[in-house]
Amino acid sequence: MTANVDIENIIYQYWASAAGNSLQMATAEKAWAEPHVAVAAGNDPLFQRIKELIGPFYWTPQEAYTLAFPEHPVPASELRVISYVLPQTLQTRIDQRHEAVMPAERWARSRFYGEAFNCDLRNHLADTLTSAGYPATAPERLPAFGSRQSQQYGIASNWSERHTAFVAGHGTFGLSDGLITRWGKAVRFGSVVARIDLPVNRRAYGDDHHAWCLWYAQGTCGICGKRCPAAAISTTAGHDKQGCCDYIREKTTPFVEQTYGTGATPCGLCQVGIPCEARIPPGLATSANS
Ligand code: SF4
Ligand code: SF4
Repeated sequence: MTANVDIENIIYQYWASAAGNSLQMATAEKAWAEPHVAVAAGNDPLFQRIKELIGPFYWTPQEAYTLAFPEHPVPASELRVISYVLPQTLQTRIDQRHEAVMPAERWARSRFYGEAFNCDLRNHLADTLTSAGYPATAPERLPAFGSRQSQQYGIASNWSERHTAFVAGHGTFGLSDGLITRWGKAVRFGSVVARIDLPVNRRAYGDDHHAWCLWYAQGTCGICGKRCPAAAISTTAGHDKQGCCDYIREKTTPFVEQTYGTGATPCGLCQVGIPCEARIPPGLATSANS
């Protein structure tokens, strides 16, 4: 029987009221625009397919759930994966568009303070559901969460919020590896795995993981590549993860520490000033409604 829990309201109320949803500026701006929620089945075959592509260290929802509740294993069919999108605010996107080499201050703050809030939101959702009788865990918050070396993809996490969002129907991958959602690519994600019966969202794009990128769909655009100061995105080779990581580690991370006093690893210059910054690119949007 479908659970009588308003997931969207739990997330929205926390987004609206938590003090942590802040850029920590004198203007008292929120770190994120309004959240959006989608639900995937815990036994969606795409989770297993992603594990096969990334490597055996990658968790399926059932494996993440079992790590959190080792005494109470359940079939994957009884699990749901709740994925949410936190869009960057308009002002953060405008500021970031003006930058070409280093991230804007608001962007650096959303990556630092906003992601701390995102971690709290993951925990809040998991704790609220567990207290209501629906055991839940945020895989990204598990002690064993971390990165490994994928044979095919280089360094990779054992739980990917972007891949989870793709399975839940939020969007598809672009040339830069970012996920293009209905609210664009200038977003961050979070997710929780719960033993709960919730309706599952339909993926408007089926299993086509590139449907909403102009380059993959039509052979046009490639503008995200022009936005990257490290030349880490190209239409011939896609996203150069190592080149991207090197630029962030060597350039942007020290810059934000010294300039804004923030930490974390921000860049995201390739996420704005592009046709998919805050929407599905024109001409591809119809597939979102089909
Ligand atoms: S900017 Fe263009 S090529 Fe890059 S991800 Fe967006 S739609 Fe694809
Ligand atoms: S995050 Fe920065 S370095 Fe990495 S691909 Fe995007 S613009 Fe380039």
